[in-house]
Amino acid sequence: MTTPSIFTTLATIAVCLTALAMTTLILVASYRVSLKRHPYTECRPCQGTGERRSRLFAHSFGYCPTCTGTGRKTRLGARLLNIR
Ligand SMILES: [Zn+2]
Repeated sequence: MTTPSIFTTLATIAVCLTALAMTTLILVASYRVSLKRHPYTECRPCQGTGERRSRLFAHSFGYCPTCTGTGRKTRLGARLLNIR
């Protein structure tokens, strides 16, 4: 069995790195499009209702302080990349 030449090894590494770079680029671009189209997510503490129930009186409720009553939060990627 012969060992591959250095050029074959370097070409294989270059093809693998190019494929990895293209895959990463496609994933980042699709995530960015997703953030642009859907920048908000459901608020977890109020589960998207925008209201928070009292623990003492079941019929009383107030606005959720986390989302200020909107029921939605900006996604982490939209916050980090400042996409609105
Ligand atoms: Zn909320």
